[in-house]
Amino acid sequence: MKNNYLKLEFLSLPENQAFARDAVAAFCLPLNPTLSQLSDVKTAVSEAVTNCTVHAYREAPGIVTVECTTDGNCLHITIGDKGVGIADVEAAVQPFFTTLPSDERSGMGFTIMQTFMDEFSVRSEKGAGTLVSMSKHFDPEVENA
Ligand code: ATP
Ligand code: MG
Repeated sequence: MKNNYLKLEFLSLPENQAFARDAVAAFCLPLNPTLSQLSDVKTAVSEAVTNCTVHAYREAPGIVTVECTTDGNCLHITIGDKGVGIADVEAAVQPFFTTLPSDERSGMGFTIMQTFMDEFSVRSEKGAGTLVSMSKHFDPEVENA
């Protein structure tokens, strides 16, 4: 199968979260994911896009960019914003770390992305924005759910 590419740009409004999650899910259907793998990808995308809405652009909505590529049986996703950025990425990715505890945030978004995807990394610069990169392999032999 030929490798594929998708780029989405949308405003960080809450109503666009489902759209982004479902578009990525539709994009990876040709790789024949199991329902469990598809659900993992949707959850990871939701967490990353929600972070753009609630953290990156907390003052006013801004542009979120989602790029997906397929490489054989592997899906690579990047989710980028040009929002406030993260001062200490190493601290931010720890379970239960949140800068919005008063807002019913549990600090588990990055941990969920890391758990549900095969590869996960975050690059960020304070005041410039954040880029989350994730990959998932859909080879049947790696599936153990
Ligand atoms: P939860 O995801 O459980 O609702 P949370 O969003 O606070 O809570 P994480 O998703 O793990 O937890 O993110 C941890 C912290 O990293 C956030 O509290 C926030 O400070 C920072 N952060 C995450 N994504 C971004 C982003 N795109 N821009 C700026 N800061 C971010
Ligand atoms: Mg979060």
